Amino acid sequence: MPRALLSVTDKTGLADFAAGLVEVGYELISTGGTLRHLRDAGLPALGIEEVTGFPEMLDGRVKTLHPKVHGGLLGRTDLPEHAAAMAEHDIQPIDLVCVNLYRFEEAAAKGLPEAETVEQIDIGGPSMLRSAAKNYERVAVVTDAEQYDDVLAKLKAGGLSVDDRRILAASAFATTAAYDAAIAGWFVEQTADADADEEAGETADDAAFPARLSPSFEKRTDLPYGENPHQRAAFFVEPHPGPETLAAAEQLHGKGLSYNNLLDLDAARALIREFDAPACAVLKHTNPCGCAEHEDPVTAFQRAYAGDPVSAFGSIIAVNRPVTAALAEAICETAGFVEALLAPGFDDDALDLLTSRPVWKKNVRLMSLPGLLDAAPVTTDLRRVSGGLLVQDRDEAAVDPAEWECKTDRQPTAAERADLIFAQRVVKHLKSNAICYVKDRQLVGAGAGQMSRLDSAKIAAEKADGRAAGGACGSDAFFPFRDGVDAAAAAGVTAIVQPGGSKRDDEAIAAANEHGLAMLFTGRRHFRH
Ligand code: 5GP
Repeated sequence: MPRALLSVTDKTGLADFAAGLVEVGYELISTGGTLRHLRDAGLPALGIEEVTGFPEMLDGRVKTLHPKVHGGLLGRTDLPEHAAAMAEHDIQPIDLVCVNLYRFEEAAAKGLPEAETVEQIDIGGPSMLRSAAKNYERVAVVTDAEQYDDVLAKLKAGGLSVDDRRILAASAFATTAAYDAAIAGWFVEQTADADADEEAGETADDAAFPARLSPSFEKRTDLPYGENPHQRAAFFVEPHPGPETLAAAEQLHGKGLSYNNLLDLDAARALIREFDAPACAVLKHTNPCGCAEHEDPVTAFQRAYAGDPVSAFGSIIAVNRPVTAALAEAICETAGFVEALLAPGFDDDALDLLTSRPVWKKNVRLMSLPGLLDAAPVTTDLRRVSGGLLVQDRDEAAVDPAEWECKTDRQPTAAERADLIFAQRVVKHLKSNAICYVKDRQLVGAGAGQMSRLDSAKIAAEKADGRAAGGACGSDAFFPFRDGVDAAAAAGVTAIVQPGGSKRDDEAIAAANEHGLAMLFTGRRHFRH
């Protein structure tokens, strides 16, 4: 009679699965809570103690860690020596294991006290999964309630093939690998927290990254393709992404998201989070081509879109206030083709409007992210290079005008100052080298991703087309020569904000004074390579 060992934390679907196993002739063995569940469902099952001759002990830390269990899983009955050893020690083969694990990640996410979280580290479960998976030639290993129907159907139709068991084994090892990665990550966090507590006055920011990284990302969905049609792609998410993350956004309408949509949406999300007043950002290929802040959200959108309406075709639009019918109407009237719209929410009548207009119908992806403006913890940025991974803290440093220093004879006016702050918030989100021109909190010209800052300044001026007069210029890094300052002055701006720190800062300051500009140094660079 084949034997199945069932030991599960999540009892979903268990009784039906177990009943099916009994129907096809399995004898059931089970641990404490699982056994009670089976018996309550009127199913016959042996308690694990009856197999091991040992009680469950040490608060459940030791239930199934016993040679009668692991010998029964790992023993190869096709080898005479194994068969003899099993017979000598009265170890009976176990043919199927169904285990799902203690909910460690849930406990860790809740931030329970360390001792309680440690108790949620399942030891016996992963051990059984690994033993059974290693012996997949003979033993079937089930890790997830979603596998129950398929496994049962196959057992009823004559049994599982070696190929079936190999696939189940792969899934079991993937489960234990992700589980261990989550545990390792948690231990690293605990260590970092403890270090931060110990070294009073020193923040976790000063601590080095751990020697090993154990991110465990799970596939949420396959994507049609990557940046280009010949590249495979998928969206993987971290365990328990925060409510402010792109992973928490819900798609309310529209075509499926593409790889490039997700990249652009993430860039739009980061930019729109900079603003407290109602604002709108229009992005192309992760760069803002339009952006504006205004007390009236409809005006903010109109001014953002008007910044560069040609580039805005096929853009991603983000706003930091729920979309009202008035805003939806304005978007439908003004915008041409839009890939996606990201907002903290959509009013019902706005949704009706956006999804019923022929031009939008079925196409525009409406993304709702209620936590869009929630505070974010400092997160890590991972970037693949060939043969390795580059890791850094994300550039989440808020633009802080209190730390800026005016370096010129002339101080900025209040209006210039508002534009300088706005320009610095935008330039942070443009690819380097980045220059932007702003007038009345509207982005009127941007130059991004150029190999020289001067080229970015010229492109921005061309886009601004005279509209920068009396406005502000933002630069993501210092001006290495005075030519960038001269170009900004030629574009008509009257104030500049830049980090400073060049050997030739004096020349840049002299140029600004010559042109009668106000120039402020932030002391903080915002490269985006
Ligand atoms: P039950 O609800 O049946 O009492 O417990 C089921 C859980 O116990 C399963 O999630 C299983 O992975 C876990 N488990 C099984 N054997 C052991 C063991 O020997 N030690 C520990 N710590 N957990 C075990």
